[in-house]
Amino acid sequence: MIRLFANPDHALQNARAELAEGLLKPVVERPERMVRILTALEAARFGPIETPADHGLDPILALCDPGYIDFLQRAWALWTAEGRGNDALPLNWVGRGMRRVRPRHIDGLLGYYSFDAGTPITATTWQAVYRSAQTALSAARAVSEGSRFAFAGCRPPGHHASGDTFGGYCFVNNAGLAAQALRDAGADRVAIVDVDYHHGNGTQTLFYDRGDVSFVSLHADPAWEYPYFLGYADETGAGAGDGTTLNLPLPFGTRWDRYAEALDRAGRAVAAFAPDGLVISLGTDPHEDDPISRFALTTEDFGRMGRVIGAWDRPTCVVMEGGYDLASLGANVAAFLGGLLDAAR
Ligand SMILES: [Zn+2]
Repeated sequence: MIRLFANPDHALQNARAELAEGLLKPVVERPERMVRILTALEAARFGPIETPADHGLDPILALCDPGYIDFLQRAWALWTAEGRGNDALPLNWVGRGMRRVRPRHIDGLLGYYSFDAGTPITATTWQAVYRSAQTALSAARAVSEGSRFAFAGCRPPGHHASGDTFGGYCFVNNAGLAAQALRDAGADRVAIVDVDYHHGNGTQTLFYDRGDVSFVSLHADPAWEYPYFLGYADETGAGAGDGTTLNLPLPFGTRWDRYAEALDRAGRAVAAFAPDGLVISLGTDPHEDDPISRFALTTEDFGRMGRVIGAWDRPTCVVMEGGYDLASLGANVAAFLGGLLDAAR
């Protein structure tokens, strides 16, 4: 069985514009995404969609830098104190030869805590982020309490956010929270497998030097694709986490045959790690119609992906990440979850 959770406050993250291709464009990470997902899940009759419980701020503070969380909570007030009413976006960052000091002005803080200009902060962003985090925590709780599968309908997504940096539409790392919650509930080892089109740089950063949480990612080659500065095959973990990170960059145009080979390699890595729990960062942006991505998977392929991962036979928490083609998004998520359930029958 699968338990389903969705962020009831997801629509509170409803930004106007992101900087892309030299223009301020309408954001692609918009509330309609979750509406499409929930409509498809209801139609598929997997079960009721539950409202997440409130697990409080402590799990977030345990994973993230408290100064960063304080910034997220106060950013809008600092922004509007400058007389601004439009969405908050950073405009400069630490470059080579500069100092990574923590400035006082909101423009400096936005640059200090971010890595791109595509992730606007609005008046209600923090509320949406907080409830998205609670959604992941609730799904993890369901798995640790014995549900074979749980789905966290997180929005905003999380896999680009580390413990102290936002970007890529992400603020708090929901998959990381879920993994840590599984650990705290008694799992000795947890594997996170990220199938979003983009590398989950934030998740990798959070767990890079940990031996208890592995990170495996299939994504577009960062030499050619966002986020560009992490996700290469030679990043394999450090310290206690040496050998627990596996990056599988793939070329533009990747179809199911090539993807399936990489997924098989991911499965072998998961089996070797022998985790007690699995967290899937589910992005449907590898779909062929995705507006910002360049893979060529179909809706049927997401069903295949679900069946492969379901056959890995681990208690599994699925956390929603990206996916921006509104026409196929709901069907892709439903196909993936249906595949998981098929494999477990
Ligand atoms: Zn993505």
